[in-house]
Amino acid sequence: MTNEGVRYFKNIREAILTTAKGMKITLKYWVKEPAITIEYPDRLGKGRTAEDLVSERYRGFLKLDPSKCIGCLQCMRACPIDCILIKVEKIGEERYLTRFDVDQSKCMYCGLCVEVCPTGAITFSKRFEGACYDIGELCIKHLQEPVSVARPKAKKKEE
Ligand code: SF4
Ligand code: SF4
Repeated sequence: MTNEGVRYFKNIREAILTTAKGMKITLKYWVKEPAITIEYPDRLGKGRTAEDLVSERYRGFLKLDPSKCIGCLQCMRACPIDCILIKVEKIGEERYLTRFDVDQSKCMYCGLCVEVCPTGAITFSKRFEGACYDIGELCIKHLQEPVSVARPKAKKKEE
């Protein structure tokens, strides 16, 4: 047999062996190992939500706890791309948060707003599903009505 003939059959043998090797690994994961991937969003598993899939420290959409917000505007000033718009107004003797919008379509999830907040009022949620037909839907309005601004807690006296 010529050298070319030998090489031809060698190549066929190699192709069969490497295919078998690949199939062995595929079969192992198919039969033995638990599934690593999930058919999202159709088969999350009973009682599981999309949020359950991500880690504890995941940076998803921002969320606001208005009961903790003291209206200091630090998060708005810290944001390098002006995603946050807050309005604080005086109604009678009280200060009210009348607007707290976060434009998630611009947000780069840097966390500067979260870090700077002195009360933990703004934090990351695990929400990551942002697909929509109108980009305006990603500007999240966190307040539906004016909310009384929380009073900052008095600092403990140094002993
Ligand atoms: S995470 Fe960063 S980009 Fe997004 S709103 Fe906060 S400061 Fe702005
Ligand atoms: S969310 Fe935090 S940083 Fe932003 S205005 Fe409220 S208290 Fe200040």
